[in-house]
Amino acid sequence: KSLANVGVRNLSPYQAGKPIEELERELGLTDIVKLASNENPLGLSKQVTAALQDTLAGLARYPDANGFYLKSKLAEKLGVNINQITLGNGSNDVLELLARTFVNEHHEVLFSQHAFVVYPLVTQAIGAKGIAVPAKNYGHDLDAMAAAITDKTRMIFIANPNNPTGTFLTTAELESFLAKVPAQVLVVLDEAYYEYVPAAERAPSVEWVQRYPNLIVSRTFSKAYGLAGLRAGYAVTHADIADLMNRVRQPFNMNSLSLKAAEVVLDDADYLAQSIAVNQAGMAQLIEFCEQFNLAYIPSYGNFLTIEVGANAADIYQQLLHKGVIVRPVAGYQLPNHLRVSIGLEHENQVFIDALKSILL
Ligand code: PMP
Repeated sequence: KSLANVGVRNLSPYQAGKPIEELERELGLTDIVKLASNENPLGLSKQVTAALQDTLAGLARYPDANGFYLKSKLAEKLGVNINQITLGNGSNDVLELLARTFVNEHHEVLFSQHAFVVYPLVTQAIGAKGIAVPAKNYGHDLDAMAAAITDKTRMIFIANPNNPTGTFLTTAELESFLAKVPAQVLVVLDEAYYEYVPAAERAPSVEWVQRYPNLIVSRTFSKAYGLAGLRAGYAVTHADIADLMNRVRQPFNMNSLSLKAAEVVLDDADYLAQSIAVNQAGMAQLIEFCEQFNLAYIPSYGNFLTIEVGANAADIYQQLLHKGVIVRPVAGYQLPNHLRVSIGLEHENQVFIDALKSILL
């Protein structure tokens, strides 16, 4: 153990759930509903399934190390230059790449109190000091975050919408924050749930990277595009930042299947529209249930809802599990009284609602 650096020694392992088949065997259940990882309940886009079949024949060869076609398509869609994009094996890979490229053990990294678990992980793994800034109404307190910047601060992670709270920062709030951050501090705006935000409320984040060369926008294909198992994510940045990230990036960090799938799904407008529609309907279904049963919840801009179930949340989680519904306990995010439930298909949401009702009533 002493061989690892101090940051690594103090990391706790990521708490991954058991494979569903194992759980079903253990619990003697056959149709577990998983609403735990903010995945897309629609399953893979049909166009992607077809394209993957065609890609199989080429798998004996290495993938395109630069992801030329995917980057070209993203650049065109986002109105940026191809040299502003860095691809990742999921956006987690992008986040880690950022830490490895720009942060060292003398630096401080800021994130919010209820921030996504990967921010402290990538920070600590390289021996830097992670600082969790207290949240405001479960969301980012940008004033407190700006005030926490010191000479040592190198990177600030902000998820918008935030996971696991679903809170959202407006364009005006983000803009006034960016104007305050010194140029040597990199701001990582993690927009994993961007597509679920109503178009009129989305920040022009990708346009900002020209004005704020210290801004990094990170997005993923895991949520609204439904490619979580394939691992596809990307960063949009100033070209100078992308150049540095691409020097550190492993050349084949996205595989041939994920490159192809991401490229194809970008053109599948119907799939994206359906993802958003199913999410809206499911969100309304869960909110109606919460209001009917007087359960407090954190209003969410994502594809999940974090519900306050009380001090026995851990026990309720277990009971839900035994009734065949997997949700996400969020005690590790300093939300010991809440459970996070991902929005599923209508019948899946109903299974969750019925199970929770039977436990609470
Ligand atoms: N950022 C946030 C805020 C997330 O919630 C997630 C997924 N849980 C990710 C990044 C990473 O997603 P992926 O690596 O699948 O792109």
